[in-house]
Amino acid sequence: MSTTMMANTLDSPAPLDTDPLEWRSIAVPEPGEGQVLIEVAACGVCRSNLHMVVGDWAADGVPGASPIVPGHEVTGRIAGLGPGVEDFVVGDPVGVQPLWWTCEECEFCRTGREQLCHQRVITGEHVDGGYAEFMLANARHTYPVPAGLDLVAAAPLFCPGITAFGAVEKLGIEPGQSVAVFGLGGVGHMAVQFAALAGAEVIAVGRNDEHLAVAADLGATRLVNTTRGEVEGIADSMDGVLTFAGVDSVTAMAMASLKWGGTLVNAVPVNIDGFPFNKGQTIKGSLLGNRAQMAEVLRLAAEGRIRTVTESFDLSEAGNALRQLEAGELRSRAVLVNGTFSG
Ligand SMILES: [Zn+2]
Ligand SMILES: [Zn+2]
Repeated sequence: MSTTMMANTLDSPAPLDTDPLEWRSIAVPEPGEGQVLIEVAACGVCRSNLHMVVGDWAADGVPGASPIVPGHEVTGRIAGLGPGVEDFVVGDPVGVQPLWWTCEECEFCRTGREQLCHQRVITGEHVDGGYAEFMLANARHTYPVPAGLDLVAAAPLFCPGITAFGAVEKLGIEPGQSVAVFGLGGVGHMAVQFAALAGAEVIAVGRNDEHLAVAADLGATRLVNTTRGEVEGIADSMDGVLTFAGVDSVTAMAMASLKWGGTLVNAVPVNIDGFPFNKGQTIKGSLLGNRAQMAEVLRLAAEGRIRTVTESFDLSEAGNALRQLEAGELRSRAVLVNGTFSG
């Protein structure tokens, strides 16, 4: 195997029109104790990658290393094993999600909430991620991809998939309840499916008819286009609301649609003005999910009960994919595909 690989590397965050990502040859990393080397098949392009690359999160210490390879929704095959790894063999199809390492010892790690570990290391933010031909992962945070799942289509299960699943579980849907999904990007499209699987009547809310049409395909039974004022039609009527658009005006619409006593789950930052106690409503934040939930997402995908909606770019075209994401030109989840993947 070659000792070098091609990777999209970020030396320092900068606006996309200055091409901050450089496609360059770097050393293939060596797996240490408990780690695996993965030959990357595909890596989804997340809005959080965009935030990091352009510097939105620099004040919060992201990226936490320089240079860094972004990317945290990754599939591929095991290409090497570090000492002490017994659960995988070379050639196994696997995936990695944003949680790259957790301490396994703290209160959160011991109670199935490892995504809240205060020492968590995030793939592609603190350590190199999947925008490269190879990457390292920890065996304890590496997931077997079930046979029959296409590795390119499966990549977004590892961030939009688990994010949506975790949020829907926090809603605690009873069959027949009405659930509105605000924000129909990669995460929203997955959430529509999980909410429908839970027995909800799913109302998709967005401003783009194409995204709404995809949501209808995925199980939404009612479509609400906010650019046509249709959102007033669902005021004070939703048992549950999921919001994946971190925009205050959307949050306000989401709160206005929530029934008295209802629950809103957000997987983005929200600002809520004047939250009233006398409507008895609940607001919950949600981040990713735990390892058991990730395995459940993969099982549901393997059974064909959920699916991703993707468009492919060559791995070397990461900058272009991010530009299209920033410009709002993508119709679905962009996935970088490694053309040199040996299968
Ligand atoms: Zn992501
Ligand atoms: Zn921990």
